[in-house]
Order: sequence, then structure tokens, then C-alpha cells
Amino acid sequence: MPVYVVGHKNPDTDSVTSAIAYAHLKKAMGMDAVAASQGDLNPETKMVLDKFGFSAPAQLTDATGKQVILVDHGELSQAPDNLNAGEVVEVVDHHKIGDVTTGSPIFFYVKPVGCTGTVLTEIYETNKIEIPKNIAGIMLCAIISDTVLFKSPTTTEEDKKACEKLAKIAGVTDMDALAMEMFKAKSAVAGVPAKDLLFRDYKDFDMAGNKIGVGQLELVDLSLVDDVRDDLYKAAEQVKSEGRHTVFLMLTDIMKEGTDLMVVTDDPSIVEKAFGVKLEGKSVWVDGMMSRKKQAIPPLQKVFGV
Ligand code: MG
Ligand code: MG
Ligand code: MG
Repeated sequence: MPVYVVGHKNPDTDSVTSAIAYAHLKKAMGMDAVAASQGDLNPETKMVLDKFGFSAPAQLTDATGKQVILVDHGELSQAPDNLNAGEVVEVVDHHKIGDVTTGSPIFFYVKPVGCTGTVLTEIYETNKIEIPKNIAGIMLCAIISDTVLFKSPTTTEEDKKACEKLAKIAGVTDMDALAMEMFKAKSAVAGVPAKDLLFRDYKDFDMAGNKIGVGQLELVDLSLVDDVRDDLYKAAEQVKSEGRHTVFLMLTDIMKEGTDLMVVTDDPSIVEKAFGVKLEGKSVWVDGMMSRKKQAIPPLQKVFGV
């Protein structure tokens, strides 16, 4: 029976490339490992896989009766459905420790770095497994994506060093150009339904019994969403009405390095408490906010007393 290596729901580039890269490593070490993703790939991930010659991995959305390795997440709300009817055999991640538990001891490796790709670079080295050129390419892209080319405050020295190594193996000489190509792909919003945009990079969190949804669109220019703002807000209202306390959509300007935070909530005061800015209309600019993981979730958890 194969072991599925799978990233989080609404997969991003790191989730997908880490599944591929870790499945390769586990296969090299003798495990019958298969890379999988939960759902369709976003435009950036498609571009990245295309560029380095990969097709989309298998899809896995239900863990019933399956052995799984979770990469790039450790929260039940982001994991395949019915996780408890399957078996988690490993976790490799770079997020806060979530609520996934196991019945037996497992390899559980989490580091506070900018990307799972960085953690995997280390695991490849530790196990003395050579990283194939095309896998180095997609791992490099994952780190560029997660750290927004080192602009995100989640970035560490280890991420930068991993990128240097991976770029060398992949034969990438111009990282800036590769990053720009990815950011442009990531910014593609034209013709995409608002709900799909909201869910493109979206995560649910449980905060003291309140369900909080946080989506993020990273854009090279916020004017790209001018025409769809109203529809995005309506989509957020719809998602909120499905039992959530609050839905945030982070419209992040990766050039100006800040976020226009769109909010649909039962309690607008949480915005000021968490981020120090007052929500008056449908959204509010939060200067310097780039990272959901580091700048959005922790202050919100504090407000909710988590
Ligand atoms: Mg991710
Ligand atoms: Mg990641
Ligand atoms: Mg991200």
C-alpha cells in the first residue's frame, strides 16, 4: 500500500513541490511513496511544475484507510478529510504545531523557517540523498514563493542558503527573473471567479471555538483586483455565512510590502485589537503585513485568547 505525501488544502507551491520532493526522497530510501495534492493547482504552481517538467501530482482529499505523510501543514482543518480514519506516519512542516495527533510515535520535523522546501533541503543532506536537478528547481521556487523572494518576515538565513544551493543544482542563474515570472503568474486574476480567488490561498483556523478564515492574494499591483473587489467581498460574506466568525482576505502588495485587509466579521473591533488599525469600510491597509503565518494569525490568536 503506498504512502501518500500530501500538502494542505487549497494547495500552494510549497505544498505541492514539497509533496513531490519528499516523495522522491522517501522512494530513494525504499518507501512506496506517492506525491499527492488536495485539489487543483494555482496558476503559480502550474507555471512552476511546467517550467521544470512535472505534471500535477495525484489528488487525495480523503485519508480513510490510507497512510499519509503531511507536509507544509499540521492542522486538521487543512489536512485531508477523515484523517483519523487513516494514519499519519510523518509530518514535515514550518508552521506552528497544530492539532494533528497520532496513536504512535512518528517522525515529526518542524522548523521555524520560511518554507518546507528549506526543511527538505536539510533532510536531503542529512540522508545523503542527491537532489535531482528538476526537483531542486521546484524546491527553489517554493522558497521564493513562501518567502516572497526573502521579503517576508518569515525568511531566515537558512532559507537563503538553501536557495543558493538549490539554484546551483537547478542551474538557475537569475533568481530575480525567476521570482518575477512566478509573481506575475501568481497575480493572474483576470477572468477567475471571485470565490476561486478567495480560496486560491485560503486557510481556516480554530480560535477558541471560533472558525476564522484567512485568504491571501499576493499581487504585484493591487489595481489588478479593482474590478473584482465587490465580488470578493460578496464571496467573503458568503463564506462567512457558512458558520464562520470572521473571514479575512489579505490583498498583499508584494512590491509595496503591505496588505489591504478585507474583513467580514461579527466583531470589527478585533481588527484594531490585533493589527492596531481601525476598520471603517470593507478593508484597511496594514503597512508591512506580508505573512499570514507570522503577522496575521498570532495577533488574532492573542485577541481570541488562544
Ligand atoms: Mg503552504
Ligand atoms: Mg510553506
Ligand atoms: Mg503563502
